[in-house]
Amino acid sequence: MNAFEALGLNEQLVQAVTELGFETPTPIQEKAIPILLSGTMDFVGLAQTGTGKTAAFGLPLLQLIDTTQKHPQALIVCPTRELCLQICNDLMTFKKHVKGLYAEPVYGGASIMMQIKALKKGVQIVVATPGRLIDMIERKAIDLEKVKYVVLDEADEMLNMGFRDDIDFVLKNTIKRESIWLFSATMPAEVRAISKNFMTNPREVTMGKKNTANVNIDHQYFVAAAHHRYETLKRLIDFNPGMYGIIFTRTKADAQDIAEKLVREDYNIEALHGDLTQQQRDKVMQRFRQKNLQLLIATDVAARGIDVDGITHVINFELPDDIEVYTHRSGRTARAGKSGICISICHSRETYKIKQIEKMVNAPFHKMDIPQGKDVCRKQFFHFMDKLMQADTSHGDYETYLPDLVEKFAAVSKEEVLQRVAALEFSHFLKYYDNAEDLNTRLDSRDRRGAQDRDFAGGRRDRGNTFSNQDNGFTRLFINLGTKDGFYKASFLQFILDESNLKKEVLGKIDMREMNSWVEVDRDFAGKMIKSIDGKKFNNRLVRMNEADGGFKRPSDEGRKRSGNTGKWRK
Ligand code: AMP
Repeated sequence: MNAFEALGLNEQLVQAVTELGFETPTPIQEKAIPILLSGTMDFVGLAQTGTGKTAAFGLPLLQLIDTTQKHPQALIVCPTRELCLQICNDLMTFKKHVKGLYAEPVYGGASIMMQIKALKKGVQIVVATPGRLIDMIERKAIDLEKVKYVVLDEADEMLNMGFRDDIDFVLKNTIKRESIWLFSATMPAEVRAISKNFMTNPREVTMGKKNTANVNIDHQYFVAAAHHRYETLKRLIDFNPGMYGIIFTRTKADAQDIAEKLVREDYNIEALHGDLTQQQRDKVMQRFRQKNLQLLIATDVAARGIDVDGITHVINFELPDDIEVYTHRSGRTARAGKSGICISICHSRETYKIKQIEKMVNAPFHKMDIPQGKDVCRKQFFHFMDKLMQADTSHGDYETYLPDLVEKFAAVSKEEVLQRVAALEFSHFLKYYDNAEDLNTRLDSRDRRGAQDRDFAGGRRDRGNTFSNQDNGFTRLFINLGTKDGFYKASFLQFILDESNLKKEVLGKIDMREMNSWVEVDRDFAGKMIKSIDGKKFNNRLVRMNEADGGFKRPSDEGRKRSGNTGKWRK
């Protein structure tokens, strides 16, 4: 008996795999196929790409489909358009001897109308990427009512790309299913949560090691004061001239703001944010994919689903509020066996978060010094010289000009030519970084003690996976001015900055109420702000400003709620 037949597969499928040259089932196929053929058992398969997992779920799925019924019976959800098309292709070859069986790919970036039309032809298996699938569900263009089997392929990748809510949504919309088959290369807590929340006694099959951290990612962090964050970012970009990266910010406004500033300073960067139309977004993504754009800056939401090859750096302009988000971000680099660097810019009082993340991703984090101006110049210089040496001179008629060039430079030494080339290329850089400030924060003993205390508290108390806003390097200040004084956020911001003669970079969150407001200010500048504002008159009223924790009402007293014990503020 053929080994595939022995697993319970029917003649048509065995014939197809034999024609493909499959002689023996791979280990995952051997274990999964008999379980999956039952049709009713939930299944978790820990297997990497290349183990034959597509056939491991594809073959039983094809056998379970009732070809007399012309509605979707199986739904395969996978992270990328490429994988979606590949799975569909594989299914086509496996089902070549089965009549009346149709599978259709559904993915973003192509005409949704064409896909809707294709689904109406009586498709039984839908292979989809999460974003487009949700779109289809919301347009009621896909009937999931009778879906019996849901396959989640590369579940960890989908979660890495930020599709957690989408997966939950899909699973909640396929309530008549008989089983879920989940395939994943690793088993992070979020994948485990899907199995816990949606599956019943899943059969688990493991091929290789669980929870292997991506050893190809180098995790680095740089400690900077809040008002040096932007300058630090710039310095890190300049220090890595070959960088092809994504920068993550917490807010859309930050992403836009930083992108605008960097563009003004001639950096090749664009922001990806929710205000863009799909068409504009596609255009940005296309430019980035084709490497016409060196850097992309985005919030986690806007960057959802981005899958780009060859990203060398991921930069956390700020650490994410939720530490699990760190894995999603860092997972954008070091894909397909390549290596990559994940950089975090953090405040000295956030180092305890680094320790938490280190523990979570199960990989060491390296504290790095922010490069000095002269290091940046040196790096840029040698990068340029490398490029000069690698310049392709095989095309173009350089020979024609060479004698003239040789004559022109006859009296000039090689050293002088190099110097002039460098001056031409680097005068701007050298000028900019001449006497550049050292951006590294040197902790004084008081700060160091504070940081240690926090580290200890971080390790002792169970802080959940969220960070407390109190430890982000800012001091929360109270001020007895609010919207009733005629302020909007922008005019209020202008007012406090003008009054204190400080820059916008020192500010964190601003929370305005009718009578009072709360302002987060970089701890190093809080004193200066209080000194300049407290006691001043505004519209003949005495302005009071002081540390919010010093006896005045905090937002929690004003009706804000704390979400559970996580210490995270919810509006
Ligand atoms: P996958 O892990 O599904 O991406 O499969 C990796 C490659 O292995 C594909 O090119 C499959 O065609 C091939 N393959 C899958 N199963 C077998 C098998 N039993 N024998 C030989 N090749 C296989």
